[in-house]
Amino acid sequence: MPRFIPEQSHLCHVCDTRFTITTTFDPRAADPRPASQPRACPRCGAPLRHTGGKDIGAAKNIVLTHYGLSFYRQHFGSVKDFLLRHCRTARDVDDYLALVERLDFAEWESDQRRSAARRGDALSAEERAEHQIVPKARAEAASGKLLADVRAAADEAKAVLSEERARHLRAAKG
Ligand SMILES: [Zn+2]
Repeated sequence: MPRFIPEQSHLCHVCDTRFTITTTFDPRAADPRPASQPRACPRCGAPLRHTGGKDIGAAKNIVLTHYGLSFYRQHFGSVKDFLLRHCRTARDVDDYLALVERLDFAEWESDQRRSAARRGDALSAEERAEHQIVPKARAEAASGKLLADVRAAADEAKAVLSEERARHLRAAKG
């Protein structure tokens, strides 16, 4: 049986209609993900969008997704997908961009060195891959390439949000 998560009040990011969503989660499903009903705003038809946590962890997830690490690719898809899953508005997208911009790659690398020294062979294959990516990310952050690439993905996500907003606002008025 699916599990029911308590009903939540949801505010549409396009037309500001407030409505109740019911979410179920079936841990035994082939692809266990929470599923919400309704799946779109009853007034304008915009899909449900949520804002994710805005912290250093999210910024690191964006970087590792950008470099295509398998776990992150499977979990988040592309950087554009990540942003569309965690942003309601272009301002949210800018917040994530700013977090990536402020990442301290030197600190990230030294955290990893400490972790490698402490855990040695206990590191998973995924963690080892991550340890190889961070020095590259640090170099590309220094040259400006990383931020340019992430900004390009952010622009694509903003274009989707903007087009969605225009289309569903028309539907709400019609
Ligand atoms: Zn709406």
